[in-house]
Amino acid sequence: MVKIAYHACYAYSLPEGHRFPMLKYELIPEQLLHEGTIFQENLFEPNYCSDEVVLWTHDINYLHKLKQQTLSASEQRKIGFPQSPELIERELMITQGTIDCCIYAIENGIALNVAGGTHHAFADRGEGFCLLNDMAVAANWLLKKGLAKQILIIDLDVHQGNGTAKIFESDDRVFTFSMHGAHNYPFHKEVSNLDIPLLDGTDTDTYLTLLQYHLPGLLETVKPDFAFYLSGVDILETDKFGKLKVSIEGCKQRDAFVFESLKEKAIPVTVAIGGGYSPDIRTIVEAHCNTFRLAKDFFLMLLVISACFFSMDTNAQSSIRGMVLDSITKQPLAGINLFLSHTSIGTTTDQSGHFNIERIPQGKFELVISSLNYETRTISI
Ligand SMILES: [Zn+2]
Repeated sequence: MVKIAYHACYAYSLPEGHRFPMLKYELIPEQLLHEGTIFQENLFEPNYCSDEVVLWTHDINYLHKLKQQTLSASEQRKIGFPQSPELIERELMITQGTIDCCIYAIENGIALNVAGGTHHAFADRGEGFCLLNDMAVAANWLLKKGLAKQILIIDLDVHQGNGTAKIFESDDRVFTFSMHGAHNYPFHKEVSNLDIPLLDGTDTDTYLTLLQYHLPGLLETVKPDFAFYLSGVDILETDKFGKLKVSIEGCKQRDAFVFESLKEKAIPVTVAIGGGYSPDIRTIVEAHCNTFRLAKDFFLMLLVISACFFSMDTNAQSSIRGMVLDSITKQPLAGINLFLSHTSIGTTTDQSGHFNIERIPQGKFELVISSLNYETRTISI
């Protein structure tokens, strides 16, 4: 089951007229629940990240300033939010959410945080709506716990992951990959392990071509055993700050390509949603929801029925043959159980994902397809 970190405090109320679209954090889970993409049990509430873990990445003086509300006016201006105890609590919770997602991702292949991706936070300062760098904290946590040895951070938010690049500039265990607008904030860019600066007006085709060119090669050379994906939707043509011309469908194809590439190589991934500043909040929510909708496919199996012999003769028996595939990679799945409900008739897919159920008596049945790592499917035959 896809696990999603979320707490009501993610949607922190900012002073009226503030340009940051906080409401999206509330609307994304609301929409996903409403449409039935997820259920309450998909969501979990993280605790606060401990100081000890934060300090594996951040500077102690900076953390004290955040916690004691002693950031200067200019430091607060760079962050873009007025300091408050609730805001730092929210950030600590989001950071823990990203860490918890890593545990679920190792277990299930993927987990998502309905916030996070605060990639402009440096070890000793925050900027651009980012206080703590959740992915950096989680990456250091994974390394410290021995749960990963080589991490790839795929940052496809339209803004460069400058804080992340700086934090890991001399740490070979974390490879930072950022595709971002060349002329967007931050105007002084740090050096990621791989930066792909994009020209203003980069369209969907160019964007996807570049991603499809670079990502597979990175997976081959970096050989990550864990990945983070920052799925900012400020690449959209409607975005106020993005300067790119990527369609909402293109944004969805971007997510699908990242998921497909990682799943093919069985690399677990934690997703944090990053930015999105389209004037209509419904566009932002829709584009982010697409990421979650696609993530759900990680747990779906496709059933391809190649032959089905049904006999009208009362004594004759029917049979059904087919294949079971992973819905994202389209690879055949071995060892999947298939059985007719309320009978002892059933089988398991072979190494090539094929199955053959014979001697099906006449009547209507439910074909149940189940496996530990996938959602059970039931089909009437
Ligand atoms: Zn951004």
